[in-house]
Amino acid sequence: MTINQVINNFKEHNPKTDTTMIQLAYDFAVKAHTGQKRKSGEPYIQHCLHTAFVLVQIKADLEAIIAGLLHDIPEDTEYTLADIEKNFGKEIADLVEGITKLSKIKYRGIERYRESLRKMFLAMAQDLRVILIKFADRLHNLRTLESLPLEKRQRIARETLEIYAPIAGLLGIWRLKWQMEDICFKHLYPEDYKKLAYKYEVEKRFEHNQYIQKVKNMLGAKLKEAKIPFHLTSRFKHLYSIYLKLQKKERKFDEIYDVFALRIIVPDIADCYKTLGIVHSLWRPNPERFKDYIAVPKPNGYQALHTTVYGPEGKSTEFQIRTEAMDDIAKYGIADHWSYKMSGGHSRDSKKQPVWVKEVLNIQKETENTHDFIKQIKFDVFHDRIFVFTPKGDVFDLPEGSTPIDFAYYVHSDIGNQATGAMVNDKITTLDQELKNGDLVEIITDKKRKGPSRDWLKFVKTATARNKIKQNLKSSMMDNLKKFIPNIK
Ligand code: MN
Repeated sequence: MTINQVINNFKEHNPKTDTTMIQLAYDFAVKAHTGQKRKSGEPYIQHCLHTAFVLVQIKADLEAIIAGLLHDIPEDTEYTLADIEKNFGKEIADLVEGITKLSKIKYRGIERYRESLRKMFLAMAQDLRVILIKFADRLHNLRTLESLPLEKRQRIARETLEIYAPIAGLLGIWRLKWQMEDICFKHLYPEDYKKLAYKYEVEKRFEHNQYIQKVKNMLGAKLKEAKIPFHLTSRFKHLYSIYLKLQKKERKFDEIYDVFALRIIVPDIADCYKTLGIVHSLWRPNPERFKDYIAVPKPNGYQALHTTVYGPEGKSTEFQIRTEAMDDIAKYGIADHWSYKMSGGHSRDSKKQPVWVKEVLNIQKETENTHDFIKQIKFDVFHDRIFVFTPKGDVFDLPEGSTPIDFAYYVHSDIGNQATGAMVNDKITTLDQELKNGDLVEIITDKKRKGPSRDWLKFVKTATARNKIKQNLKSSMMDNLKKFIPNIK
């Protein structure tokens, strides 16, 4: 991969945008990562280039692509976020900072990790681009998984399937979702993957191709008769979705014929319905499989007519009929469809809930098979909240204005009671210091310390910490009293 490939592909969709900054970011990244290598042995800069290239493919904007090139610099090189801000401005520095924070989450068992990652995703959701960059980064890491030890490989694959892929689906970025899923499938279930891939790509391909050609010919002739200009493409479904299908319905591979979908692109909406009529006049539709997403678009903006018919030889065959514009939305999801700026852009103001978050909430309400992670989390819980890390990589969310003492009591009452000081981002701070989003907090404790200090009540922010301090003050007061008046209750 070269920077010219990135720039040229970007220019295809953005012919008028000045791309000097992309080149400068590349030069900076080359300098910063000099001498570094990936596990695969490749120069590190390849990872930056691939990340940026994925972002170009999903039509991310200029700033996201620049941040994609720079995303590992604060974490892995001697250059800092401040250097990035000095050279590329605050907007890009903020994006890179978001990625850096996401990467601070360490893996400590899937349950804990999942929770942390979800929280962070939601925290970063204020700028959708951070998530897009993280996805692009993840996709390239997946593509180079081979160089990692088995256990790590499987762990990354599992967490991608459980967290990243469903989020990509929610955002309608199907391309990324499918690509990620197939790679994870390969690493998690290598035997099943091999078998399926062979059946699918070698044994059945010829048969499928013949079948599709037949359908295309029949349909094409009718569409020409009706004078509807059309563009017909066929798409094999991705392996992981077939795998799930096979498992769910306990069907045999040979019984699954809708492993391919035919897509018909026509000029306008009227043509969509005319084409639907033609498909139905050729083959008998399965009424249960008909969906009119033009009249009732999916909440993420997706529009098309879907129908499954009993095609030639009675094989179940799926059609998706849509216009060019609808096709763009379907391919790139909200990465293309929703403007980032409109969605609150890089604003840190959590009071302004980004439009897309609301949309995701709508998706949650309206889509039955939405991954249940969104269900577990109410967005207003995250209103005005900050996310801070323990040294071990757990994440706690606290109200804005929380202090190390609040944090300490959230982690454990004992830690609160024995707190004597705090390190925030590796620097000693006072216990009343206000914490910021993304801070790494370590509480210094003294086991001999008997309990909290009354002074803490003056600055703690959370009811949890306040109550625990009061409780402990009371009980240590009672302890003291008991020493003098043994019969007191
Ligand atoms: Mn990376």
